Amino acid sequence: MSRGRYAPSPTGDLHLGNARTALVAWWRSRGAGSSFVMRVEDLDEPRTVPAAVPGNLDELRWLGIDWDEGPDVGGAHAPYRQSQRHALYERALAELADREAVFECYLSRRELRELSSAPHGATPVYGEQERRRNRLVRERKRAQGKRPALRLQAEETELRFHDALHGEVVFEAASEVGDVVLRRADGAWAYQFAVVVDDLEMGIEEVVRGDDLLHSTAAQLLVYRALRREPPAFMHVPLLLDESGERLAKRRGSLTLSALRSSGVTAAKVVGLLAATLGFLERPEPLEAAEFLSIASLDQLRREPHALTPEELRWLGL
Ligand code: GLU
Repeated sequence: MSRGRYAPSPTGDLHLGNARTALVAWWRSRGAGSSFVMRVEDLDEPRTVPAAVPGNLDELRWLGIDWDEGPDVGGAHAPYRQSQRHALYERALAELADREAVFECYLSRRELRELSSAPHGATPVYGEQERRRNRLVRERKRAQGKRPALRLQAEETELRFHDALHGEVVFEAASEVGDVVLRRADGAWAYQFAVVVDDLEMGIEEVVRGDDLLHSTAAQLLVYRALRREPPAFMHVPLLLDESGERLAKRRGSLTLSALRSSGVTAAKVVGLLAATLGFLERPEPLEAAEFLSIASLDQLRREPHALTPEELRWLGL
């Protein structure tokens, strides 16, 4: 039994890569006869597209994915939109603050960049040097009325988890993850924190998501440790790439479910294509979601990213 979830961020239309991960998550729960939860991760208000909230759910349902609990059907852990779950995040934060695991960080993004030796664009690891700098500027910034971000002080430890596809994954907390932001200076809850609080509260047993989030999982393990709770099991699915090996950005209009659907491509064609890209079929053929469940297998699931082939694009009429 493996109660699972899919957690779309409604920042636009879902693309084929999102649909592929959603199908895998759904299979891991449904294939084991377990319940499946749909949770909308709409914490990032400026990036949330209101129409994408019902839109994403409609796109997933069109594919044949169903869920027992979610924003549109309710359930024992309602509400299922993160924007409506602030009280839970407050409570978990208070628990961590009571244990003195949380501290106020007044460093701006620019100051952090200046301190960091991380290559441009990479997220700098917040460590001893940053803590020291923060202690130096804290009083002055407080007096100026600056609002702090809240960070979880990282333990010096090895973060280790078993991934159903990647096997043993190990990160060094202090050098590779650092002090995780729980709440941003503008008051917004951080993804890393909200997702842990939600996966715990919703009783999720296995988290399935793209393997671009492996490093996020390490950050989340620090949150589980701080909350003194056991993390769920994890499966990080290698990504689907476009024909030139680039990540499928949501802006790539032709590869969204809504564009495919309105150009007349059937859900069965999409599911069949995704099954082929996952390694469950030799080549695309029309497949109902229920048939997907019966052919999906952990042994066959590809361990590497898959770039769409010209044949696969032709299958979609592209
Ligand atoms: N909301 C995240 C996304 O759409 C997924 C997070 C997760 O599955 O943990 O990328």
